[in-house]
Amino acid sequence: MARKPETQCVHLDAERDTKLHYGAVSFPIYQTATFAHPGPGESTGYDYSRLQNPTRERLEEHMAQLEHGTDAFALTSGMAALDLLLRLFRPGDHIIMDADLYGGSIRLVDHVAKPYGLEVTSLDCSRENVEAHVQENTAAVYIETPTNPMMNVTDIAALAEMTRRSGLLFIVDNTFLSPYFQTPLDLGADIVLHSGTKFLGGHNDTVAGFLVTNKEDIAEQLRFLLKTVGTGLPPLDSWLILRGIKTLALRMERAEANAMEVAEWLSSRPEVTDVIYPGLPSHPGRPIMERQARGFGSIITFRTKTPEQGKGLLAGVQLIQFAESLGGVETLLTYPATQTHADVPAEVRERNGITDCTLRLSVGIENAEDLIADLKAAFDTLEDEHA
Ligand SMILES: *Cc1c(COP(=O)(O)O)cnc(C)c1O
Repeated sequence: MARKPETQCVHLDAERDTKLHYGAVSFPIYQTATFAHPGPGESTGYDYSRLQNPTRERLEEHMAQLEHGTDAFALTSGMAALDLLLRLFRPGDHIIMDADLYGGSIRLVDHVAKPYGLEVTSLDCSRENVEAHVQENTAAVYIETPTNPMMNVTDIAALAEMTRRSGLLFIVDNTFLSPYFQTPLDLGADIVLHSGTKFLGGHNDTVAGFLVTNKEDIAEQLRFLLKTVGTGLPPLDSWLILRGIKTLALRMERAEANAMEVAEWLSSRPEVTDVIYPGLPSHPGRPIMERQARGFGSIITFRTKTPEQGKGLLAGVQLIQFAESLGGVETLLTYPATQTHADVPAEVRERNGITDCTLRLSVGIENAEDLIADLKAAFDTLEDEHA
């Protein structure tokens, strides 16, 4: 019987030889650059840590297990993962991408991929929309669901059916839900990308990225690229992410429960005009999420009536920190217009709905009442100042 996800976060399914690593319960950090060979033409299985390192390999096996893939690759950041992924394509290839993506992904595409010769069309990636924009040179479709930061939801299975028929690679950035809540390969995606910095690491202490696939030819190309380019995750960082993953299930459940409470409370505030959280019945993507995911996650995007209220909230919170990033145990409040999406052209930002009243809250695992009290105190201070 297949083990359940909570167990799979803690244990690798595959049997291990407990004599290896002296029976260490916590997988060792192999902090070594190179490996001695027993003799000419012989190898321990490891030669040089740019190519592979046991700690990184262990993490990759764990990620492949969680995402239901055959191969996973651990990289130095989510952006390193996207950069490696884009090396699968050639100048002249066309890629269709979601218009609302993580700001760094948009920057990489605009300033690195396009000058290299990739043709990119950004649009709202509904199946009909994508189908209407497929060209002769289209090679892939790249989406996030839910998107960062507008929480747009795409039907993964519907798009997968279309991309398979058209012979396109289908790539899903699964950062916002983690494999605990969503496994896109099961729904027909070919490659999953992650910022491991977020929920997988979970403690705002390590930067990492992943690519996971269930296609042998893609895995082979990625393995070659990774060892050649040299952006594999170092051993200590690999160990930190491995440790983070052990509590992934607990953290995802708690953060989501908190997010639901905070989203409902925000909806009741007169200073707040919109609360965009897929767990709320008002979210248009909720029915799709109920089909394709096992949870709604813990990222809430909301808008205040005025920019001053938004900025006042950022300045006024005490427990919650005003910082970029998401998916950690600490609750963070982000102002996408000047932080995560600062390098996205203003007109693109506006079109995507990222106004100067838009805030993104990554709800952590603290006590929900404490979080709400912190937000309330910041709003109340604002009111006093304007009274
Ligand atoms: C943060 C993030 C990335 C980038 O990952 P890094 O680890 O910061 O390089 C990519 N996609 C999404 C959805 C993200 O939130």
